[in-house]
Amino acid sequence: MNGHRRIDLHTHTTCSDSTVTPAELVKLAARLGVDAIAVTDHDTMAAVAQAQSVGAELGVEVLAGVELTCGWDGEKIHLRGYGLCPEAPALQEILQGPVAERTRRNRGIAALMQADGMDVTLEMLERRHPGATIGRPHFAGILMEQGRADSVNDAFRRYLGAGCPYFLPRQYLPLSRGVEMIRRCGGVAVLAHPLQYQFPHERLRRLTEEGKRFGIAGMEVYYSGYLAQQREVLQALAAEFGLFVTGGSDFHGATKPAISLAAGYGNLSVPEECLVNLKREIALAQEKQ
Ligand code: AMP
Ligand code: ZN
Ligand code: FE
Ligand code: FE
Repeated sequence: MNGHRRIDLHTHTTCSDSTVTPAELVKLAARLGVDAIAVTDHDTMAAVAQAQSVGAELGVEVLAGVELTCGWDGEKIHLRGYGLCPEAPALQEILQGPVAERTRRNRGIAALMQADGMDVTLEMLERRHPGATIGRPHFAGILMEQGRADSVNDAFRRYLGAGCPYFLPRQYLPLSRGVEMIRRCGGVAVLAHPLQYQFPHERLRRLTEEGKRFGIAGMEVYYSGYLAQQREVLQALAAEFGLFVTGGSDFHGATKPAISLAAGYGNLSVPEECLVNLKREIALAQEKQ
């Protein structure tokens, strides 16, 4: 045992597209000796209250978060909000748009599948995942059960990913609006997993610069699969634009089976400094409210 705390500031639950319930997530953290996690589901904060109450019992610190998909320069970017109040009416208002847009798209995907004789309906998904933010990973679950795909990845590759027969685009909140809304709810805005967009460096730099101008405060530098050299590039960008550094695994349970809580693909180690940074920024944001 060394003294340093294990943390993971990017996780998902069954309230979005993970297979692990909020309580199971926190129990897993306790079992693995993870001291602090942030729950960051897609378009919902429904997991936060339960995760925090189990966390209080088990001695796991649970931070509130949410992951929004935003549009920027014709691409989709993940924007994280931390420290928002899950019950704030303004937050419910923010999340209504993306959730309605998901429903519209999900209905369309199901209709395309039905037209090809597949037995997939939106009602089926809602029954299987009550209250969850439904997305393509849930379609993947049904396709696997029906023997049409071997894994979530396989389902995305053959059916659900961009360019596939059942892919439908959805409309995204502009990044500037997303940041503004998070801040209006007393939250801290963070640019998520910057290398996932596969931008050339100059474009990533422009995203960082504009993001900073919109009010993004932090950057996710530690992330499953990011190499030391890649983290250095991100550290430098974060420093250049005065963004604080954070990190997490993007744990999704069996939806992303190769990613372990806190450890990512095995060698992720998010420094405790990230938790300190994040808590300082959350406190600052709440002072300004
Ligand atoms: P949606 O929110 O419906 O657009 O689905 C996108 C979500 O599916 C992402 O945020 C990931 O959590 C997950 N996802 C995307 N691609 C894959 C993949 N190849 N394998 C597993 N999960 C994926
Ligand atoms: Zn997800
Ligand atoms: Fe993400
Ligand atoms: Fe995520």
